[in-house]
Amino acid sequence: MKVFHAYAAQNEKSPLAPFSYQPRELRDQDVEIEILYCGVCHSDLHQARNEWRNTVFPVVPGHEIVGRVTATGANSHKYQVGDLVGVGCLVDSCRHCESCEDGLEQYCENGFVATYNSEDRFDGKITYGGYASGIVVHEDFVLKVPENLDPAGVAPLLCAGITTFSPLKHWKVGPGQKVGVVGLGGLGHMGVKIAHAMGAKVVLFTTSPSKIEDGKRLGADEVVVSKDAKQMEQHLNSFDFILNTVAATHDLTPFINLLKRDGNMTLVGVPEHDHPSPSVASLIFKRRSVSGSLIGGIAETQEMLDFCGQHGITADIEMIDIDQVNDAYERMLKSDVKYRFVIDINSLKK
Ligand code: NAP
Ligand code: ZN
Ligand code: ZN
Repeated sequence: MKVFHAYAAQNEKSPLAPFSYQPRELRDQDVEIEILYCGVCHSDLHQARNEWRNTVFPVVPGHEIVGRVTATGANSHKYQVGDLVGVGCLVDSCRHCESCEDGLEQYCENGFVATYNSEDRFDGKITYGGYASGIVVHEDFVLKVPENLDPAGVAPLLCAGITTFSPLKHWKVGPGQKVGVVGLGGLGHMGVKIAHAMGAKVVLFTTSPSKIEDGKRLGADEVVVSKDAKQMEQHLNSFDFILNTVAATHDLTPFINLLKRDGNMTLVGVPEHDHPSPSVASLIFKRRSVSGSLIGGIAETQEMLDFCGQHGITADIEMIDIDQVNDAYERMLKSDVKYRFVIDINSLKK
């Protein structure tokens, strides 16, 4: 029997610790992947600590996966053994609802199957993620990784990259537009890079004055310390679009007031507790809107990877061994991430 070695949290208070499990037998269209790198997303922390109150324990987090194909199912032809591939936040969906037919599996009307902490549609077992030596996934949910990019820096694209690319594209960000990105963490730094590559003028909003130089290096034309009301005031009514990646509850109104008429702010951060309701007047007087966005579909994720391949975009990472993941979570809570932790899965062998 095959065994995957992993790191799991046994309950919401326990740190992640070694764990192993038997993967499912390969189904006809399954791909078995030996994991090389897995990014550490703030969503992993939210779920390992049951902050969204839906975690089934033990949980093996990780949905920013890059690895090599080691086996394929009897009827799986998309990938060959040895291919460099990625797996993001989705591993299955119903395939026939309106959203699935539109290639928006993340909005599957019947509920998508998440890479971890989700029920498999066929055997009902809970899925386990990428803090592990391997994973078995249906080929339709496996992505092709551009060969010209550093595979460790690609791992975070599978969640942080697509979660920022998808709303930037949906809201048609491009040249001539002024675009804000709120929060310079894993998602935010990808948002800055991608919006810059799309040709927009990018303004980063950060609570950390120590990140100003990095923000500019990553592609921001300007950096605003959002706690400074004077700096914020200089940008009133001037943004076409703002992408808000903050992982904590905060007041949205100061950012809404920076939007032009008809401007939109899209929320992608999912804090443990909701934000207070924003000012209604700030919304109606300029027909501004606030919306949300969830990761991205499979076709769009491939499009994002190809876009990053063309523009030479990867995440700025700090590589860690898997036994450092609990410290990485603590540092993430202090906004001390530059700008994504990536686990070297080889360290599982130590
Ligand atoms: P992260 O690396 O921890 O970055 C979050 C950033 O938010 C921090 O670096 C910090 O940036 C800012 N921040 C933190 N606390 C703050 C506070 N109290 N007030 C204002 N700003 C604060 O997290 P991440 O991995 O990018 O994830 C961000 C959020 O997106 C999480 O809630 C995650 O669960 C969610 N997420 C959503 C989706 C989706 O599909 N919608 C996908 C992935 C993740 P500064 O230091 O620059 O202020
Ligand atoms: Zn994520
Ligand atoms: Zn569906």
